[in-house]
Order: sequence, then C-alpha cells, then structure tokens
Amino acid sequence: MQMINKATVSVFIFILFGASTGCAQNDSDNNEILLQGGYVLSMDAEIGDLASGDVLIRDGQIIEVAASIDAPQAQIIDATNMVIMPGFVETHWHMWESSWRGMANDAAEYFRYSEVLTPHYTPEDFHTAVRYAALDAINAGITTVHNWAHGVTDFEIAQAEMQALVDSGLRAKMGYLAVIEGEMIGEADLNRALDWINENGEQRLGLSLLLDGVDPQQMQTATALGRSLNLRPITDHSGGLGTPEVSGEEFMVTHGPGLTPEAIEIMAERNIKVSLSPLIDPMIGGGLPPVYQLLAGGIPLENISFSVDVSAQTPVDPFASLRTMVNSARMQQVEANQTGMTAGTLIIPAPGTEWLFSYRDALFTGTYGGANVLGLADQIGSLTPGKRADVIMLNMNKINMLPLTEVNIPMQLVQHGLPGNVDTVIIDGQIRKLNGELVGVDMQQVINETAQSQARIRSRAGEVIDTSR
Ligand SMILES: [Zn+2]
Repeated sequence: MQMINKATVSVFIFILFGASTGCAQNDSDNNEILLQGGYVLSMDAEIGDLASGDVLIRDGQIIEVAASIDAPQAQIIDATNMVIMPGFVETHWHMWESSWRGMANDAAEYFRYSEVLTPHYTPEDFHTAVRYAALDAINAGITTVHNWAHGVTDFEIAQAEMQALVDSGLRAKMGYLAVIEGEMIGEADLNRALDWINENGEQRLGLSLLLDGVDPQQMQTATALGRSLNLRPITDHSGGLGTPEVSGEEFMVTHGPGLTPEAIEIMAERNIKVSLSPLIDPMIGGGLPPVYQLLAGGIPLENISFSVDVSAQTPVDPFASLRTMVNSARMQQVEANQTGMTAGTLIIPAPGTEWLFSYRDALFTGTYGGANVLGLADQIGSLTPGKRADVIMLNMNKINMLPLTEVNIPMQLVQHGLPGNVDTVIIDGQIRKLNGELVGVDMQQVINETAQSQARIRSRAGEVIDTSR
C-alpha cells in the first residue's frame, strides 16, 4: 500500500517538473536495498556461502539471501568484488575512555589515568568519547558494541553515553553499573534507564548489568534484579566465577588469559559466555587469548566473542582481533599437543595438523558468537531472512586482497583484512558507510572535538602525561 502511494507521488513530481534525471537510483523514500553480486558469507548454517549472491533488505530486515534476486523497486548497491557478511559484534568496550587515544602505555598507567582523569569529565566529555568510539566501530565494520560504562556516576552521564550510541546509528548494549559511588542501585534506577531506552533507543539499544563493585553478599540480589528485568549479559571482570552458584547462561567472563582449567569447567557446565580481549591482553603483558584452552575445555564456539576493551590503547580492528585469536589458538594447540617439529630454531607444526580453531570459526565468533554472548542471536549475527539487517561489505579489490572467489575467503579476511577494506556498513537497514566513507558524519569535526575534549580533561586534572615510555 505504501509503495503505491510513493509511486503516485513520484509520478506527480515527474509530471509537475517534467524532470528526467536518468538516475538509476530510486527515490529516497524507497525502503528496499539490494546488495547485488557479491561473495555472500552468510554465517547461517543452511544458507552457507554463495560465490555470487544478492541480499535483499526491506524495512531494516533481511528479506532474502539468494544467488539472484529480482527487486525492481530497490536501491541497488553493486557488490562486485565485495564480500557481503554480517557486521562484527563486539562484546566489552569502555567507550568513554576512547578520547585517551595515545595515552596509557600499559595496565599500570591505564589504572592511574582512570583515577586521575575520571573526576574531571563533564557529561559532554562522556558523549564526545562514546561518539568517537562508536564511529570508529562503524568505520571498522563493527555494527554492535557492548558499552562498558563504568565511568557513570549519575543518570545525566548515563544519558549522555546512551544518546551518543543512539546518534551514531550503532546497535548497542549499554552496560549499567549495579554499584554506583559505593551504593547498590535499585530497580527504579534500572527502570529509569529502560524507560529512556524505550523512548529514545530506536530499538537498537538494550541494557546489560555490570556487577563490578558488588560484594559476594550482594551478588544474589544484584543477579536476581538483572534477571527479573531481562538484562543481558550480566557480567563483571570475572563474569561471576567468584560466585559460580548464582551464575548462569546470562553471564559473561571478560579477558581470559588468567582462566584456570577449573574455571573453564565451571563456564562449560553453566553455559557462561566469554568476551576475549585479543589485542589488549598481549599489549598490557597479560597474555594471549586462551582460545584453544576454551575450546578443548568444552566451551562451544557460539559462547566465544571478541572485544575492543580499551581503544585508547589498541586499534578498533576486528580483523586484527580475530587474527590474534587464530594465531594464539595455533600456538596453544602446538604447545599442548607437542606436535611441533624443530627445524633449527623454528618450531613447525606437523604436516596435516587440523587446527581446532579455523578462520571460519574466527569469523563465526566475531559475528554470531558476539550476538549470542550479548543475548541477541535471534536478531543479528548471521545473514538469515527475518533477522535485522546489520550487514557489511568488504572490498576485496585492494592491494592487501585479491578479488577471487576460488580462494579461501575466510583466510583472506582474517589474515589480510584491514578496516580499510570495509566499504559499506548497514545497521538496522540504515546505510552508515558507503564507498568507504561514513555517511552524514563530519569526521574532521569529530576528530577535532575529541582531541579538544582530551586536552580539556587533562588540563582540568592538572596531569602531566609522561609520553616518553
Ligand atoms: Zn574491561
């Protein structure tokens, strides 16, 4: 019905102005997008990969994925030499610290800055930093994030962060602290945030519960509150492993290098999820993501995800994150099974080694796994008809890639992919990046405002930053 009305209006305008632009693109009211002729990496077990295929999006939803789709009304985006796949899903990111980029050389410095700089943030600084991080995410092909908002001390700040997430167009979970300034929050506080989300969240924002600061006695109450309001995930930096008896499938462990076999056993038993931080943990000296140990310990692939954690310290780069996970898993597998052959100073895995964590597995954890960890697998994480349209297109016609379909595409993406290959980003059916450029964003202004925000916070804190280390 709507289509007929729009077509009628178009005809009227055409007659009125006698215009004929010859433009192939449909009028901007049209709500159908057809991604045409790309390599489709659906991450859906039934659909699989299509060497050349189309994806039809309507009203923000994936309608069809097939070798060829006829949609005469749709806005067509040419996907020649592109990989079409679900957007990356990130699961743990302290976005409000993104404006510290170039600061915090290691963990000790990071924690010192947290203490020194945080009291000098205004709500505007929180908004600026979260916006900067959100656009960094979209630019890199991440379509969903989990914003770990542990700098929130009042509702005004929470609102500033949530507004920045909504404005960016990202899909997000807003991690809400169960303990703020030493006080445990109540149901009314969470309902206030949920009401704000219902009104302003454009159905892309949800709430999760952060248990950082909750003592073991409060764990039961806080968890019950989170469960009663259906908050996903429920998490802290141990993911409830300190009190396994109250933990469950809604729980998410962050980081990972310190996990013992016993902890992994508890996670497997209780269906607890994990958010690895593949770039941060090696950078701060904490260790590699224990991908092999998790899989060998019975954690299913769909319970494993990657996170950015701190974008002041490492890049927002899902390709590098997944690459580190694959490479770490290989090292761990060779070490655990003593399968390496020594050739001089080299350790080379035995011929025919079957890797427990494949390139495709890595892409699965980066998309469907992340969605499952955040409790969103029924909505996103694969190119499945009926799911929301969070879709990215990666340009393979670049010097770091070769635009061929008869090669190992997952390997190309994981080992060679860069954020610069992200050509198109669609979130909830809205085009947020096209032809390699963010849509409707004055990037220079965003960069300037974020740099000014960092300078203002530092000046208020009176902190001299040691940049020599
Ligand atoms: Zn963290």
